Amino acid sequence: MESIIYPLSWVAISILSISYWFQIWQIHVHREVRDISLTYNVLLAIGFATLGITAYFEGSTIFIVKQIVTTVPVIVIIGQVIYHRSDSWHDPKLPLCSKCSKEIERRWHHCPECGQQRD
Ligand SMILES: [Zn+2]
Repeated sequence: MESIIYPLSWVAISILSISYWFQIWQIHVHREVRDISLTYNVLLAIGFATLGITAYFEGSTIFIVKQIVTTVPVIVIIGQVIYHRSDSWHDPKLPLCSKCSKEIERRWHHCPECGQQRD
């Protein structure tokens, strides 16, 4: 059983870490962070880092690695949220409001900025 569980743990650690890097890639491409909570990621980083320290004192290699490969991307996300705080995502294919020229999502019937009905 040990021979299956141990490699499975490393696979799980890899998947966890990769999932964060997908989030990083999404932020990198869209530069849109308004839906990402800075508080959530800061608390996550503090929790992961603290568990990394306890894992170090417990001498658990796999747990230390797990904490490092999840703490690092969370810190990168925190940096992205701060860096892209005032950026907003623009889709050049979206129609613009005839009154204020802000983007209007396909499903919207009115402009959220000025209330103008879509043409
Ligand atoms: Zn408008």
